[in-house]
Amino acid sequence: MNRREELRANLDEVRARIAAACAKADRDPAEVTLLAVTKTFPAADVALLSELGLREFAENKDQEAARKTAELTDLPEGTRWHMVGRLQRNKAKSVVGWADQVDSVDSARLADALAGAAAKAGRGPVDVLIQVSIDGDPARGGCPLDELPALADHVARSGELALRGVMAVAPRQMYPGEAFALLNRAVTRLRDDHPAATVLSAGMSGDLEDAIAWGSTCVRVGTALLGERRLASP
Ligand SMILES: *Cc1c(COP(=O)(O)O)cnc(C)c1O
Repeated sequence: MNRREELRANLDEVRARIAAACAKADRDPAEVTLLAVTKTFPAADVALLSELGLREFAENKDQEAARKTAELTDLPEGTRWHMVGRLQRNKAKSVVGWADQVDSVDSARLADALAGAAAKAGRGPVDVLIQVSIDGDPARGGCPLDELPALADHVARSGELALRGVMAVAPRQMYPGEAFALLNRAVTRLRDDHPAATVLSAGMSGDLEDAIAWGSTCVRVGTALLGERRLASP
């Protein structure tokens, strides 16, 4: 099988999983965006996935993403890039140069750095998700659930940032269903104050069914689409 056929087969399988999970949860599959996480894979794979119809792509390292997006100058209109990795404030300027949406905002200081960089670049508002840490362990990034309302208010006050919702990774030591249920409750409350924050980005290759059962509107899929990553990607 050539790479294109391999990616098409993987994509068919992922789409079938999403459709089955939606059917089980009595949800419309159109509510669930498939975000392809292309970290460690070459720009040529992004081009193939684009030809196969995907429009949302994610990277987790600024430098790799800046290089890859610069190579991909003729992706169709409507293609959007997400930053899903931990982000240092000194990378804000570079990130607003390639990312349409930053899904990993977890502090007011990072939000302010992105807002400042967006203003300087004159690029219009950056779409933002707040990354939450469901178990409160800050080791892998994310703000604790109880700090979500204050950080959401902070982001919403910025004219340079547009609050779109929340992203989370299920902690390893919790059952995904349990983690996503906690997340679902926090996001439902958040929408009372921020009705435009409709995105719930939850679920990856291993747990997208549980995430869809608990209301995910965006699954971030790397391995199931592209295969095992050879390079380490913390
Ligand atoms: C790498 C990554 C993913 C994709 O993980 P897979 O298990 O390969 O599907 C999703 N979300 C984030 C934040 C990632 O860094």
